[in-house]
Amino acid sequence: MATRIVETSDSRQTEALGAELAAALKPGDVVLVRGELGAGKTTLVRGAAKALGVGEEVTSPTFSIAHRYQGSDVSVSHLDLYRLAGLAQEEPDLLDDYLAPDAIAFVEWPEEAVPELRDACLLVTLTHEGADRRRIEVCELGERASDAPAGRADGPTGQAGNASDEARANAVSEVTR
Ligand code: ADP
Ligand code: MG
Repeated sequence: MATRIVETSDSRQTEALGAELAAALKPGDVVLVRGELGAGKTTLVRGAAKALGVGEEVTSPTFSIAHRYQGSDVSVSHLDLYRLAGLAQEEPDLLDDYLAPDAIAFVEWPEEAVPELRDACLLVTLTHEGADRRRIEVCELGERASDAPAGRADGPTGQAGNASDEARANAVSEVTR
């Protein structure tokens, strides 16, 4: 699980990091974005969405749980689970349109326990460092089990795959506890 730390000193730099991360994503990928209010989560997602060809301005989905945008080749979902508390249990398929195989999803406030988030491929943590400075930690959570080449589960690399699945599950469960 590779971890990378970037420091930005204005919102454009945070958008640029979002754009850079977006370039490595593919349909079905889920990115967890955590940090305090105003840390720059939505700013990072905005940069990523623009890079994926979303023309609309990405804003905080304050009055809804999520937005889905059309990018140039892929759908882009932006979820904000801040007010989700308990909702997912009541309506288990509430998030299905957003955490979909054909969409790249960015999830703010992933701490709300949602089982689908266990498949996330990236965990981005933003921290205030005074004024406009932000510390941004990008943690790769390993490849998804569904990406494993055929037959891998039988060989020694299958074990490595399982180990990385486990490491990812641990990292995500720390967040989504
Ligand atoms: P969150 O979604 O985490 O609540 P937002 O992205 O909505 O945060 O808001 C971040 C605010 O902080 C914006 O007003 C943005 O312009 C400002 N800002 C200042 N410096 C930075 C930075 N380095 N990275 C991201 N946002 C920054
Ligand atoms: Mg936000």
